[in-house]
Amino acid sequence: MAVKRTPLIAGNWKLNLDHLQAIAFVQKLHWKLEEGNHDYADAEVAVFPPFTDLRSVQTLAAADKYSLAYGAQDLSAHDSGAYTGEISGAFLAALDAKYVLIGHSERREYHHETDELIAEKVAAAHRHGIVPIICVGETADDLEKHGASAVPVAQLRTALGGAKKGSEVVVAYEPVWAIGSGQAATAEQAQQVAEALRAVVAEELGAEAGESTRILYGGSVKSGNIAGFLREKDVDGALVGGASLVVDEFAAIVRFK
Ligand code: PGA
Repeated sequence: MAVKRTPLIAGNWKLNLDHLQAIAFVQKLHWKLEEGNHDYADAEVAVFPPFTDLRSVQTLAAADKYSLAYGAQDLSAHDSGAYTGEISGAFLAALDAKYVLIGHSERREYHHETDELIAEKVAAAHRHGIVPIICVGETADDLEKHGASAVPVAQLRTALGGAKKGSEVVVAYEPVWAIGSGQAATAEQAQQVAEALRAVVAEELGAEAGESTRILYGGSVKSGNIAGFLREKDVDGALVGGASLVVDEFAAIVRFK
């Protein structure tokens, strides 16, 4: 029997919006999404603010019963100790963070995160009951030399080495050349890679995980192209950067139908 995968629309705020701006943004987003039918959509909606905003977002989500999930943009591979500047999975779990982004291409590039470190971070997330959103994707150079799938497939295989069997993972396919460029992949390109990534999940975590794991597309997603991605059979949502910072635009992406 085919498993129904609830689409996930995730907003990666990157280094934008302090905690006061986060409060205003999340309130506006909630009002916007509730407008009319008092229902967000058939999608799960999650925001990924900077660490310093998480407490404020938690307070709104819990006290006002927003159907909004949230998570962090990174976490430490370590649980505690002499690691100045790091934030542990335990701390995120204490703030009820459901998700954590791991291995975003900006972390790989600017913080030299390796596939092995990313696998350790996946293990750290699972130790604390947080769902890792494992980000993979090829650069323009990789695309030219190896095609679209080879690099993301290898990245995912190593990252899943840290996953705990039976624990949920989400995969975000984000071609580096499409991030922030305005040049999204086509829906067909995203589908092709998503299918290859689903096969890796099945090989590494079992057939059931292969069926149930959500695979997101990310890279210049906006309200005008989201529906095309979600029509593809192996694409189950989106990781949205720039367009997630504009309330009306992000709300329109959530209501992709
Ligand atoms: P973008 O970013 O939507 O601005 O291209 C996506 C991301 O980096 O997750």
